[in-house]
Amino acid sequence: MATNRTFTMIKPDAVESGHSGAIIKLIEEAGFRIVAIKKTLLTNERAGQFYAVHQERPFYNDLRAYMSSGAIIPMILEKENAVADFRKLIGATNPAQAEEGTIRKLYAKSVEANAIHGSDSDENAEIESNFFFAGTEQY
Ligand code: ADP
Repeated sequence: MATNRTFTMIKPDAVESGHSGAIIKLIEEAGFRIVAIKKTLLTNERAGQFYAVHQERPFYNDLRAYMSSGAIIPMILEKENAVADFRKLIGATNPAQAEEGTIRKLYAKSVEANAIHGSDSDENAEIESNFFFAGTEQY
C-alpha cells in the first residue's frame, strides 16, 4: 500500500540561483505539507552514499562533485499519493523532456543540475528521509 510521504531535496544549482522560495511555494500550492526541512551541505562521500545506486554509471563521480558543490535543502513531504504526485510535479530527469509547468522545466539548468530530487518509491522515500532527518525532526 502506498504511504503518504515522499522525500525531496532542492539541489545546489537551484539553491545557489535563489529559486528555493519559488520552488517551496509550488510544492505547497500543489498540496504537499512540509513534515521536515533544513538547509545543509553534503560531503562528496555522503553524496556518493545517497546516490550509491548509480555507482556504475558514467556520471557518478560528476554527480557526487555537483551534489557536494553547494548547499541543499532536503525536505520530507506529506500528501495522498505523495511519491507519484511529486514525481509529476518535478517532471522528467532531463529538463529538455520535462512538461511545461513542472519544477524542472521551470528551474533546472541541465540533466545533472536539474534543480530538485524526488523519491521514486515509498521504500526509497523512507530510506532517504532517514538519511537526513531524525524521527524527532519530523512533524
Ligand atoms: P531522477 O532524479 O529523475 O530520479 P535518476 O535517479 O536517473 O533521476 O538520476 C539521479 C540524478 O543523477 C539525476 O537527478 C541527475 O541529477 C543525475 N543524472 C541522471 N542522469 C544523468 C546523466 N545522463 N548525466 C548526468 N547526470 C545525470
